[in-house]
Amino acid sequence: PYNFCAGPAALPEAVLTRAAGEMLDWHGTGMSFMEMSHRSGEVVSTVEAAESSLRRLLGIGDEFAVLFVQGGATSQFAGVPMNLGGVGKPFAYVNTGQWSAKAMAEASRYGDVVEVAAASKELPCAIPEQESWASADDAAYLHFTPNETIDGIEFHWVPESQAPVVADMSSTLLSRPIAVDDFDVIYAGAQKNIGPAGLVILIVRRELYGRTLSSCPSMMNWEVTDKAGSMLNTPPTYSIYLAGLVFEWLEAQGGLAAMAERNRKKATSLYAAIDESGFYGNPVAVADRSWMNVPFTLADAELDKVFLKEAETAGLLNLKGHRSVGGMRASIYNAIPQAAVDALVEFMQDFERKHA
Ligand code: PLP
Repeated sequence: PYNFCAGPAALPEAVLTRAAGEMLDWHGTGMSFMEMSHRSGEVVSTVEAAESSLRRLLGIGDEFAVLFVQGGATSQFAGVPMNLGGVGKPFAYVNTGQWSAKAMAEASRYGDVVEVAAASKELPCAIPEQESWASADDAAYLHFTPNETIDGIEFHWVPESQAPVVADMSSTLLSRPIAVDDFDVIYAGAQKNIGPAGLVILIVRRELYGRTLSSCPSMMNWEVTDKAGSMLNTPPTYSIYLAGLVFEWLEAQGGLAAMAERNRKKATSLYAAIDESGFYGNPVAVADRSWMNVPFTLADAELDKVFLKEAETAGLLNLKGHRSVGGMRASIYNAIPQAAVDALVEFMQDFERKHA
């Protein structure tokens, strides 16, 4: 079966197979990796190797820290204002969908939040023009969500600001190359393109240290975490190990340029199938469509349940849209092959012939 879940999502089969092979006896130690001390040489060097691999994949320079932390991306909805909010300026947010809105709501517990721009409420849903949020320059930071996992709307460019640019890249990091230098803080929950849920990757421009709210707990403090090598407490060692295997797999696939080409092709073929039919629809402006999460509706919502049932029988799993929006959603992250998208398109065409 093919798993189109938005997260936790499918991981590369080769990675899972390798992890299963190493489960009971990691590299001849007679122990599982998850049973080993986080202070042991083996674990420390595995974490370091994962970091190096991620730095190579994204071209991350030493001016940025790479941190492995816990608590899911949601914890960084608070972590961002707590680490950058000490400058006494408002927090600027671009609101393009449900995850932006959640990030804003959490940040408002720590200071004044300004919504500098929002995606259009009318269909098709679209990313706002950059000119409309110049006021963000005076903010403590400008936060945006490059890919809205639920709404399927994605920035295919990076906003510019005098304020530090902070991105919640949970559902897009590692799907293609990025210029890390265009950002000041990147954070991402791992459960889409990276590894197990709970783990968060943080990429932080070190120059920004010292702007922390005095109430910020040590566990949420990026500078403290950096100084402790992401081991202020017992880190999620097994999740970092698995993420490291995913990074290795990505490098073996040809890196992020190769992934981008695959992801672009997958998305193009699925959107083409939707657009060519009079039966399926996608609510997002063509220029702002997500490569990772493709929401779509059926002409008759009464058929949603039948669609999902028949899809499951055909081995196409987890296509139900988010509970807040309904309809369907196909998440086509790195581990989803073109064959899965081809099978979905064929199924959709058959379904339309039978039911339209
Ligand atoms: N941000 C985005 C864009 C997401 O897609 C998600 C989860 O799907 C989150 C934040 C929340 O992540 P977590 O559940 O790891 O806290």
